[in-house]
Amino acid sequence: MSYLGVMVDIAGCPNHCRHCWLGAHKNGHMSIDEFKYIAAQFKHWRDEDDRGIAEMGFFSWWREPDYRDDYRELWQLEQELSSPGRAERFELLSTWRLANDESYATWVASLVPKKCQITFFGMEGNTDWGMRRKGAFKDQLKATERLLAVGISPRWQLFITKRCLNELDEFLHLIYDMKLFERCENIVQKFEVFIGGISPEGCGYEIEDFRVEEDDLNRIPQEFISICREGTNMLGQPEYKLLDYLIIENQSANFLANFPCIAIDADYDVYPNIAEPAEWWKLGNLKTDGIDSILKAYRDETTPGMIANRTIPIAELARRYGQKNSKKLYDKSDLICRFMHQWGEDWMMNNI
Ligand code: SF4
Repeated sequence: MSYLGVMVDIAGCPNHCRHCWLGAHKNGHMSIDEFKYIAAQFKHWRDEDDRGIAEMGFFSWWREPDYRDDYRELWQLEQELSSPGRAERFELLSTWRLANDESYATWVASLVPKKCQITFFGMEGNTDWGMRRKGAFKDQLKATERLLAVGISPRWQLFITKRCLNELDEFLHLIYDMKLFERCENIVQKFEVFIGGISPEGCGYEIEDFRVEEDDLNRIPQEFISICREGTNMLGQPEYKLLDYLIIENQSANFLANFPCIAIDADYDVYPNIAEPAEWWKLGNLKTDGIDSILKAYRDETTPGMIANRTIPIAELARRYGQKNSKKLYDKSDLICRFMHQWGEDWMMNNI
């Protein structure tokens, strides 16, 4: 392997979002020494021909970054443990910490690209519902203010469900009232807002009843669509239309990660970063199975999910799990994700 990223969920996440494709893994309390010990195991690993992994990146989070109070030391440690240039911040920040730690915005302003994504599920009641935390909506607004104050532009992501269709005008006016376009221009940035698509895996599978349908598109105000980066494109197409193509697709899902990476949860269970961290994808447990067995499973793609990902034709999944009368909107890859999740649940029923 020329590169592997290792993401360790040492603290977890302050939220418990209903759309979270990572699911509802428990928050852990790993120590710095445990994190270092995990890193050492990967660095010292050798395959059957005595070859190691050329470059590695270590991350002390795989859900919300910077949740722990010693986030500055952890970022320093990630850089020390990782190969040069492989410790990365991406565009992810903790909006919880932005709202609750006054010094955080100034710190991140020196580190990351000048953008930060902030998620909403509608107005206050729905955003608190979506993030399963009272006060989440207010925190997202406070985080927006703190980002602007240090020259970082907020990028608002709205997840539209059936619950918030009647408050999209109010959401539009919130953007206008906060003068987000003008204020981003003042810091020589561009304000972006977009309608996100909910991946039906992890916790996201449990809110399928709230997924918007073809007829709901008429309820999204044109003015709101006109200011959204990709309009309504990310909502995708109705299931019955997508099935016309998927039912003749002989390729398998072949999900790939953006870059080779594995995720370790608070119980030391290890997952490939290909799809939701669910039982059928699990590579093993670092404590009980050991690193050799885990990296061999990762390299040779031997977990049930990884095998299905390479071998079951999408047409077969579509025939088994597609709903011909469904008008629910999906991005094509999200619908395939749902099929894989349904396949995984069936696998669990038959094997666990
Ligand atoms: S979506 Fe992000 S913030 Fe929400 S629970 Fe998942 S990791 Fe945490």
